[in-house]
Amino acid sequence: MRSQAMFFQRRAGEALADPRLQKNFAGLKDKFVGMRARAVANYENDFEELRDAGQAIRDRVIDNLDVWLELFEEKATARGATVLWARDGSEICEHVIAIAQRHGVTKVTKSKSMLSEEAQLNAALAAAGIQPVETDLGEYILQIADNEPPSHIIAPAAHKNLDEVADLFAATHQQPRKTEIPALTREAREVLREHFLSADMGISGGNFLIAETGSVVLVTNEGNGRMVTTLPKVHVVITGIEKIVPTLADFATLMRLLPRSATGQEISNYVSVCTGTKGEADADGPEHTYFVLVDNGRAGLVGSEFQAMLRCIRCGACMNHCPVYQTVGGHAYGWVYPGPMGAVLTSLYTGIENALDLPHASTLCNQCGVVCPVKIPLPELLRKLRERQTERGLRPWSERLALSVWSRLAQRPALYALATKLGVRYLNWLASGRDRIAVLGVAPGWTAGRDFPAPQGRTFKELYSSRQEQKA
Ligand code: SF4
Repeated sequence: MRSQAMFFQRRAGEALADPRLQKNFAGLKDKFVGMRARAVANYENDFEELRDAGQAIRDRVIDNLDVWLELFEEKATARGATVLWARDGSEICEHVIAIAQRHGVTKVTKSKSMLSEEAQLNAALAAAGIQPVETDLGEYILQIADNEPPSHIIAPAAHKNLDEVADLFAATHQQPRKTEIPALTREAREVLREHFLSADMGISGGNFLIAETGSVVLVTNEGNGRMVTTLPKVHVVITGIEKIVPTLADFATLMRLLPRSATGQEISNYVSVCTGTKGEADADGPEHTYFVLVDNGRAGLVGSEFQAMLRCIRCGACMNHCPVYQTVGGHAYGWVYPGPMGAVLTSLYTGIENALDLPHASTLCNQCGVVCPVKIPLPELLRKLRERQTERGLRPWSERLALSVWSRLAQRPALYALATKLGVRYLNWLASGRDRIAVLGVAPGWTAGRDFPAPQGRTFKELYSSRQEQKA
């Protein structure tokens, strides 16, 4: 499979050259970062201890994933739900379309589900004659914007500004153009309400699956999740097999981490725990509940050097704090998941040969690792992916040659010292008195997208030797 993620460099270049996108991202940069920082500072206990607890819960699940999944299936089935398993995106589409056809469904309302993006479910539903309607405001904006892909996992339309949304709404809804956010959201709510009331099936993702109760948990700020899961007669949950947590108490711990890390909230506006089907005493709820539990590359990570990635609770903090994501946005990453977590997941789920640029789309500054609520060592995983690329001969020959020369030199100190001296002279000659090197002569590709500062002062080796002499 030749993924769009192959084209990161070109897409990143386009994003950098787009003044509208750059302006939109500039407003976002500090928003999420500041909100998380305040939430962590205001947390009543030790946030680092909470991160340790979150990591422990996720590791406990993933170490025995099969056990917790079996328990979940047993409990969910006992509450009247049907549990189905999907190996990949096409099986997700097959299951969902078969369920829709079984219940005579012609319209589905959807709350946000990244798995349905992985499966390109909307296109499959439309091809089967079933109308999908996105109801998360960001996803709805993208749907009416000719099905644009999301650029952020919790703020899918983060790349759009108010004017663009106002134009889209006016053109789509055929109503007078509004420019105030409350008026626009009211308009969206009125349009969506018709769909909520007329849809026969609701499709949601799931933030967590609770093994001990067979429940799915939805964490939203808009309330659309509740409409999708309670109004239609059929509710289909599509979620990855790794989303499971053993108990409600474990879920409570993770809920202290998720909103604080994602949006800086102590708690999200709506936290829905949905269990089974509508009971006799219930005023509303689905008559039929289906869980489509998806592998799509996840099971293969269990026991591998990349297992830690399965801890991810999709909070988005890593991308919010990533200087690369902050500058180029989500579309440059080319697939469903952007930012550092996306660089790892896209490589693992679509094949490292299809995402050659992504592990390199990072300065390895470790901001992502520091803020990840479940302590996923993202820079380490990115480094491992780079190693795997090199081992499989997937890097350009010039890069492999340079690394091999460097490795040989580094093992011979005298030769290394001589090469460093000559290298510094060469770089100074290229800089010609300026503090930046515009084109790196032997590797011009390096400076095509990066700054290369001219050498300043003495080399590390010279400084170290002189300090040793002073000490002596
Ligand atoms: S990798 Fe960590 S920080 Fe990034 S989305 Fe997942 S849980 Fe959040």
